Amino acid sequence: MQSVTVWNEFIHEREDEAVAEIYPEGIHTTIADALDERGHETRTATLDEPEHGLTDDVLADTDVLIWWGHAAHQAVDDDVVDAVVERVQAGMGLLVLHSAHACKPFTRLLGTPCDLTWRESDERERLWITDPGHPIVDGLGDSIVIEETETYGEPFGIPEPDRLVFTSWFEGGEVFRSGCCYRRGRGKLFYFRPGHETYPIYHRDDIQTVLDNAVRWAAPSEGADAYGGNRNVEPPESP
Ligand code: ZN
Repeated sequence: MQSVTVWNEFIHEREDEAVAEIYPEGIHTTIADALDERGHETRTATLDEPEHGLTDDVLADTDVLIWWGHAAHQAVDDDVVDAVVERVQAGMGLLVLHSAHACKPFTRLLGTPCDLTWRESDERERLWITDPGHPIVDGLGDSIVIEETETYGEPFGIPEPDRLVFTSWFEGGEVFRSGCCYRRGRGKLFYFRPGHETYPIYHRDDIQTVLDNAVRWAAPSEGADAYGGNRNVEPPESP
């Protein structure tokens, strides 16, 4: 069982009736409930809480942090970003969803702007699985089809992913790297594109399966007791 914290800026759901109809208690609650049903221990955190709900205690008890943001990336306090980045480097998993491609923790960890093109025109998307042996796609077929969604397009301003698990095609002609894996320090990162707030995408079973798999993949492994930081040492083989 993994300890999962689902973070959401929680703005659109409180300001836009159409979004509130789809996610009455917020995108974070929908995702947390789905992961809870699939056997994880979940909590949520939002922008308005002290330290955005991401205190040292919460981060220390989080195996995998899930991040959804869109309208308020710049409102996230840099001290909180520092703490998240440090925890990822030390082993916490980070799942970055949809418009969170531009959030501070992700761009900081990747070192590039992570920019992209987009269009809101209800187009069809097919997410091709381009790494069928990867644990993040356990239980899926050859692709996921979303009948109506927001379009994202290349070039996506990211570093080359370690593994590219999904590549999307859109009916308007764009393609997009929709499922990207990275390692930063001890931490595993997964960017997953689906999830614009005006579509019920996080209610879908196949999307929840990907999130569940991604949590299991990104959870920290015990590893070796060798994370010592930058330090001056004696030769380990001295007599
Ligand atoms: Zn969007």
